Amino acid sequence: MNHRIVVLGAGYAGLGAAKRAARAAGDAEVTLVNASDRFVERVRLHQVATGQETADLPLAGLLDGTGAELVVARVTGLDADARRVRLDDGRALDYDTLVYALGSTADLDVVPGAREHALAVARPADAERLRDRLPDLGSVTVIGGGLTGIETAAEFADARPGLRVDLVTAGVLGESLGPRARDHLHRWFAGRGVTVHENAPVAKVAADGLMLEDGRELPSDAVVWAAGFRVPSLAADAGLGVDGRGRIRVDASLRAETHPEIVAVGDVATLPVRGREARMSCQIGLPMGLHGGITAAALARGREPARAKLRYVGQCVSLGRGDGVVQFSRADDTPIARAVVTGRAAARIKETVVRSTVFAMRRPGVGALL
Ligand SMILES: Cc1cc2nc3c(=O)[nH]c(=O)nc-3n(C[C@H](O)[C@H](O)[C@H](O)COP(=O)(O)OP(=O)(O)OC[C@H]3O[C@@H](n4cnc5c(N)ncnc54)[C@H](O)[C@@H]3O)c2cc1C
Repeated sequence: MNHRIVVLGAGYAGLGAAKRAARAAGDAEVTLVNASDRFVERVRLHQVATGQETADLPLAGLLDGTGAELVVARVTGLDADARRVRLDDGRALDYDTLVYALGSTADLDVVPGAREHALAVARPADAERLRDRLPDLGSVTVIGGGLTGIETAAEFADARPGLRVDLVTAGVLGESLGPRARDHLHRWFAGRGVTVHENAPVAKVAADGLMLEDGRELPSDAVVWAAGFRVPSLAADAGLGVDGRGRIRVDASLRAETHPEIVAVGDVATLPVRGREARMSCQIGLPMGLHGGITAAALARGREPARAKLRYVGQCVSLGRGDGVVQFSRADDTPIARAVVTGRAAARIKETVVRSTVFAMRRPGVGALL
């Protein structure tokens, strides 16, 4: 029987892995399982939340010519001993090598009330719920001063000038960026009338706003949680070695430390990249996925997998459609203070990066382009 590679999740990491594996694994059968039949440009979900149309990308078309088979179903269980995954349509898939790439969702259990009352942008359904509520909203408060929170608050301010927008963060705005980049963010938000609340940890979320730990209340028609992501519990439930956030610990070739026949890539995996814990991002998830595909192919061919060479280049942040910040960084993700592009040029760079990602996903030889 041919070696069976099953890839779970068709996001940036999983789709890249499936395409790479299909190209490099010889006679192996590659099956890609995903909850929907569409590729979701997750890095555009804040645009979806403000009612913008994004490209329709059927997975069948993106897999065309690769030989990989698509199964549209939700994964409900993993039996790592039997090497079997269970699907919500009652089927089970057996594998010889598994690529686990199920991504992440908003972590709504961090403060009381968030699960009941907060909206999110982490998944298409979250963003669509927010978009549908938008016409009724006079104010929105975004929680999270990281890149997702910044992009979300900025998109609202840009797309709906009449809307009151607050951005609340437990630390400082754009902590991962250098001072010049952060200054630009502050100037941009001030210019758009967005109130930024720094060093303001949230104590609870309610139907009509939120309360900060210092007792202050911030009334708001909607609260959007963009302050943290969590990964599915499937891997931990199956006995794989995970860190405190449930992310699978992988070795240098991206194989699960406890289960070397499982390759984990994207948001679900944790490993040190140049000495620092991998940041949940498309930037590192995509190269991880491509390398994960190569590792799966090596396992199918009975070869020793190579070490992944991962590095960061920079962070691209959109501020609506006409502005942004591009912060170049060292290989370990630390920002190079003076290497910053802002304004329209940054918006163009960001848009080019996002478009080229999809362009690469369309090509069967995706790996060669990235
Ligand atoms: C609004 C927003 C903006 C962002 N902007 C940026 C940015 O500018 N730059 C950047 O680097 N990162 C950005 N990110 C982070 C980036 O999107 C993620 O790090 C990236 O998508 C992770 O890729 P992934 O393949 O691991 O997971 P995902 O892209 O989340 O893909 C996971 C896939 O698995 C599927 N899936 C999940 N559970 C199941 C199941 N049980 N059964 C079957 N299928 C399942 C999902 O449907 C999905 O297709 C942003 C995130 C958000 C939410």
